Amino acid sequence: MSLYITKDFKFAEIRCPCGCGKDRPVDARSIYLLQSLRDYIDQPIYVSKGGGIRCPRYNKSIGGYWNSAHLFAKA
Ligand SMILES: [Zn+2]
Repeated sequence: MSLYITKDFKFAEIRCPCGCGKDRPVDARSIYLLQSLRDYIDQPIYVSKGGGIRCPRYNKSIGGYWNSAHLFAKA
């Protein structure tokens, strides 16, 4: 499923890549800022794997900080 959460970004782009489904709630402010940046530069922005939301297990597996903003859907 590839639902758009903003004009240009799909939920699939920001989900935790491990497939756990523990990627809610999405932080509305972060998504708003991301879309605002996209609109401002008028260029596509590609979210890297793990560049959006991460569950604690995935974050640990890639050596992310224990209090990484990705854990709170704010990165
Ligand atoms: Zn996960």
